[in-house]
Amino acid sequence: MTAVAQNPAMERELNPWLAAETRFDDAADRLSLDEGIRKVLRSPSREITVYIPVLLDDGRIEVFTGYRVQHSIARGPAKGGIRYAPDVTIEEVRALASWMTWKCAVANIPYGGGKGGVICNPTILSMGELERLTRRYTAEIIEFIGPEKDIPAPDMNTNEQVMAWMMDTYSMHMRQTTTGVVTGKPLDLGGSRGRPEATGRGCMIVTLEALKRFGIKPEDATVVIQGFGNVGGMAARLMARRGFNIVSIIEYDGAVYDANGLDIEALMTHRKETGSIVDFAGGEMIDRDEALAQKCDVLIPAAKENVITSLTAPKLKCRILTEGANGPTTAPADDILQDKGIFVIPDILANAGGVTVSYFEWVQDRQGFFWNEDLVNQRLEEIMVNGFRDVTAYGDKHKTNNRAAAYMLALDRVAFAIKLRGLYA
Ligand code: GLU
Repeated sequence: MTAVAQNPAMERELNPWLAAETRFDDAADRLSLDEGIRKVLRSPSREITVYIPVLLDDGRIEVFTGYRVQHSIARGPAKGGIRYAPDVTIEEVRALASWMTWKCAVANIPYGGGKGGVICNPTILSMGELERLTRRYTAEIIEFIGPEKDIPAPDMNTNEQVMAWMMDTYSMHMRQTTTGVVTGKPLDLGGSRGRPEATGRGCMIVTLEALKRFGIKPEDATVVIQGFGNVGGMAARLMARRGFNIVSIIEYDGAVYDANGLDIEALMTHRKETGSIVDFAGGEMIDRDEALAQKCDVLIPAAKENVITSLTAPKLKCRILTEGANGPTTAPADDILQDKGIFVIPDILANAGGVTVSYFEWVQDRQGFFWNEDLVNQRLEEIMVNGFRDVTAYGDKHKTNNRAAAYMLALDRVAFAIKLRGLYA
């Protein structure tokens, strides 16, 4: 039994759906949200569970469990990634789906929210097994997805190749190439320029906005990033180019530190060659918990949920917390961060860059006309800056912290759409 399972309070704290509900209820109370609309938005509109038989390379058949949750389609088709991981649960996928609804509303893009997950260990599956799993999962949920219904995208352990297989499977069934059914595709199959960097770039844009409020220049700011994958790695690369001092990178197997700023490109090369950031010659290896708690201007958790908890939050010494991951902070940790005066840029704002460029990709696919990278980045910046300003203005007006403000703004926008549409009976 794990330590977590032995402690019911901590088990509750780490349940992402309870975290999502806590924030939802708080925002709904503050807004005095209509009881009926509260009921509509408190639960997802649809949850699909599928059992996916896959032929393994050794000739055996394995059956995997997969989910797709559509939390809301009030503002447009459901939108959100698909993750492959051994510890995926329906509660996690449900929470992530609702966060997509709020994220798209904060970014003010015309989508609802959805999320998918398959319980599997992608590290032990061959390419062939992964392809068969992806195609069969797509076939199992095929009547629920589509460019006007629900548009999946990459998330943890899924990538451009997985999206290409999904797009192909859907297109084969529909008897026509339908690129707009998924986003995060390879560039040559209807993908968008700037999509791989988009989440990291969005994190940088909102962090720059927050720094302006503190009167700090990027060149004078120290940054700690937890996670060095698509989000953390890209944020590190772009922020280093912008002049930030990335003093520490933390991964699951170690943390590397250099007070003068790490050479991010060299660290990326080292990780590519060795598979890990450990033993990087250009920095000192330090304890991971110590790294998270070190004094810095900006901390970016960009890996998984539940990194900043009631146990770790009291130790943080950052001024700004930019949530690159989904759900990195538990609900009980929110109050601790507020008491410490940490300026939190909540996940549903901070990591909205990914879905925003997914939206651009979908628009380009439907237009059949593709934009250059500068245009993508310029439009991304506009949406992220507007999102930051809308959230902070809402917070100033209602005298709340950024997390509560972001949820209130999102709920307000989605509730307004529901009221306008009325209830179909
Ligand atoms: N998985 C990403 C997220 O959590 C992107 C979703 C998308 O592009 O639809 O925001």
